[in-house]
Amino acid sequence: MIPLLNPLKEKIWLLVAGSIFIVGGLAIGFWQLANNLFKDNSILSLVAVIIAIFIIALIIGRLIASKAIKPTEYLARSILTVTNEENGVEPPNPEKLDKPSKEFLSSLIQKVYGFKNSMNQLKTEDQTDLSYYQSITNLYPLPIIAINTEQHIGYMNDAALSYLELKANEISDKPLYDVFNISFTSNETLEKWLSEIAGNTVNATETWQRVKLTYPDNRTKKFDLVAHYSQNNSNGLEVVLAIYDRTLLYERDDRDLTFVALAVHELRTPVTILRGYIELFGEELEPKLDAEQKSFMHNMSASAQQLTSFVSNILNVARIEENALNLNLKEEKWEEVLAQVCKDMELRAKVHGKKLVVKIEPNLPTVAVDRVSIYEVIANLIENAIKYTHTDEEIIIDSHLKDGLVETTVIDKGVGIPSNVVAHVFDKFYRSHSSKNSVGGTGLGLFLSKAIIEAHSGQIWVKSKEKEGSTFGFTVQPFVNLAKELETNQSGEIVRGAHGWIKNHSLYRG
Ligand code: ADP
Repeated sequence: MIPLLNPLKEKIWLLVAGSIFIVGGLAIGFWQLANNLFKDNSILSLVAVIIAIFIIALIIGRLIASKAIKPTEYLARSILTVTNEENGVEPPNPEKLDKPSKEFLSSLIQKVYGFKNSMNQLKTEDQTDLSYYQSITNLYPLPIIAINTEQHIGYMNDAALSYLELKANEISDKPLYDVFNISFTSNETLEKWLSEIAGNTVNATETWQRVKLTYPDNRTKKFDLVAHYSQNNSNGLEVVLAIYDRTLLYERDDRDLTFVALAVHELRTPVTILRGYIELFGEELEPKLDAEQKSFMHNMSASAQQLTSFVSNILNVARIEENALNLNLKEEKWEEVLAQVCKDMELRAKVHGKKLVVKIEPNLPTVAVDRVSIYEVIANLIENAIKYTHTDEEIIIDSHLKDGLVETTVIDKGVGIPSNVVAHVFDKFYRSHSSKNSVGGTGLGLFLSKAIIEAHSGQIWVKSKEKEGSTFGFTVQPFVNLAKELETNQSGEIVRGAHGWIKNHSLYRG
């Protein structure tokens, strides 16, 4: 027993013992009185005494209970006052307490108030710490934003306010996407990342390149974004974002691309003419050529074909940039589309000493595709499988129905992709460091393929292991899935735009 409680215990003990004594005395007195009154009728006297004692016990019990509850009430009042939980509860009045409990409760209450004071002190220290760190981040020229996992802004340093052209009073606790307009090059957005990690990890860091910021007057800037998530952040701002402005660098890339696109556009007609003549000569001269001349002819044809896909890749990426790549989806037989690309690519594979193996599941449904664009996707994937396989291993193209969609995979046993870069292969201009110098390319083929597949309401993915090979796969919709859309469309085709920018928030209406 806590020693301070002893006087309280004694008081309650005395009260209860005294009450029993009084009730006992009264019972004897009542018994005498009742015997006189009811002339020694003992049953009647007993009933009268029991009723009288019952009433008196109730009154005394109530009195004792209200006395005994006083210290508890006092304690409850002080805790509720300290925690501010219950409005309208009066603070405890020590004067209303009797002596023994007064001493004990006063010392207890001192402790409760003391605890509150130290909590308040801690809070102020926390805030001092916070403003100390805020003033440090303000000295730093890098834009820094702290948000919670719902993407509500908690803090922006001065550099961020000036970069985003915002005022401090415009941002507090607002959703990120309400305050400024950013878009990503793929649907791997900040929002998606946060929804995946929140609650599942303790710490995580992610980087996005070429994030586009559009100001209200349509000016744009491009930056790399780094986000760090830390679950144990006590102030609720679990995510810190840092913005690395790359506008100049990326604008130069875009200018280069526009220039290259203009130049490449001029190549298109002569390349088409050259290809036509090469094919014609191939057919006409084939019987008269010896083996070496035939292989020269094949090389010429394969190179002309490669040049054609290079030209269309560049032009299409430039169109995506301007939101001007439109696809016309029509009903097509998938086995025919696939067979045509594979036949065209076979020569290229042969020139590189590789073999294409095509497996198409029988009775595939017709699909809704833009034949020209989907040709480029398949050609890009096969072209990559050829380029990044340095042995004579087969390249398998496998098409089948999966979960109601037509899925096609291109499987190679080539160099594979390191796991730390595999997430970036669909990014614009991404080229792996290991093969950059040994294998030619632009880093645009997969970016373009992804934009095209997504415009087809399909998905593209990759599974790869370094030194073991890669499998690239994509899905397209069976025609029946889109037939309804076509019914309401009088032109007989479905037009979709392939664009490169994905908004951070699906509900953003910019
Ligand atoms: P590139 O013109 O460089 O081939 P892509 O966009 O087609 O551009 O591919 C981007 C990068 O992805 C390539 O540079 C390469 O590092 C990697 N990659 C693509 N396909 C394969 C593959 N089948 N095997 C290994 N790496 C691949």
